[in-house]
Amino acid sequence: MKPIPGLIRLRTAPGVRTEELRRRVYLGVAALACLSQLTVTGLDIFQGGGFQNGLHWQALHGEPVFGALLCGSLIPLLLRRTIPVQWIDFGVLGVASAAVAFALVAAFQSPDVPQARLYFVGVFLFLAAFSILPASLAALYSAALYFIVVALTLLKGGDTTLLLEMALIVLLIAHLSVFGQRVSAERRETQVFQKLAETDALTGLTNRRAMYWQLERVLTSKANANSAALLLDIDHFKQVNDQHGHLTGDQVLQCFASALQGAVGPDDVVSRWGGEEFLILLSNVNQAGALAAAQRLLDAVRRCAMPAGLHITASCGVAHAREVTSAAAWLSQVDLRLYAAKHAGRDRVMPQA
Ligand code: GH3
Ligand code: MG
Ligand code: MG
Repeated sequence: MKPIPGLIRLRTAPGVRTEELRRRVYLGVAALACLSQLTVTGLDIFQGGGFQNGLHWQALHGEPVFGALLCGSLIPLLLRRTIPVQWIDFGVLGVASAAVAFALVAAFQSPDVPQARLYFVGVFLFLAAFSILPASLAALYSAALYFIVVALTLLKGGDTTLLLEMALIVLLIAHLSVFGQRVSAERRETQVFQKLAETDALTGLTNRRAMYWQLERVLTSKANANSAALLLDIDHFKQVNDQHGHLTGDQVLQCFASALQGAVGPDDVVSRWGGEEFLILLSNVNQAGALAAAQRLLDAVRRCAMPAGLHITASCGVAHAREVTSAAAWLSQVDLRLYAAKHAGRDRVMPQA
């Protein structure tokens, strides 16, 4: 079967919340790091001698100043949300790698045994690589780094037990990272399937199954006193199909769905109940408010620019939650009233206001 133009496609959840969380974590870390680097710089300048001994600019070290500037410049970028968090990820990994590369070159050139600090920084890099890069790239990166550290340790006569510990830590990080990535992929997949199970494929609206749950939820919650159900059915829709073909019929259904969606409030739910029938659940309305809302919806449908220059009308049955005690009774009530609206000549709401 040919795909229908405009048929909704569900994409994997973009993970906006995860990105926001990461941004906040980066912001906190950048602020803390900037503050600590500034403190170190300040201590360098005063050299513990206090104000009376004057400033000691010559004691200033480049590293904390560079660190403070780097972390400080990240803060406005993170606050303004001008760059994606992933860029910052790569930037952090790049800068940390460059710093470690310098430290490694210096360690190779120095006659001394490598300092234990270097191994800790290496572990930080493994951690950063596995949380930023795809697992295979992170494994490659870690293997290369580990190989260099092994060569350095063997050449300079460093502590080989640190190598073993480092290997165990990197394996643990790799294991946790791969496991974590798998769990997040599965969670994303579940979200997509859940969305699919609740969505009508043609219009992107809530489908019948999900709407039925909503009706039951409303009836069992305290909000039921303020809810109303509206069942709308397009008038003479069969003629649209017969005269203009099913594809145009589908496009009319999509336009109709958009018109309804655009005419309800943010707390209201519009669903495709089946075929050319749409069930709407309104919140925070009394009976008169529900009837007025139904008239507004029919107006929106009449005004809507439909494909092929068609003019469409619909009939609507309304039932307030206060009138019923079960979802089945609610549905049967709106259905009876929709039938009455059709019988009375279509393009109208029942009961009449
Ligand atoms: P009434 O005013 O009494 O509601 O008349 P009607 O022609 O709208 O109602 P009827 O029940 O006779 O026809 C409904 C038509 O809707 C028949 C069916 O082929 C069509 N239909 C149902 N689902 C779809 C769909 O997904 N796409 C298209 N193009 N047509 C559909
Ligand atoms: Mg129908
Ligand atoms: Mg119809």
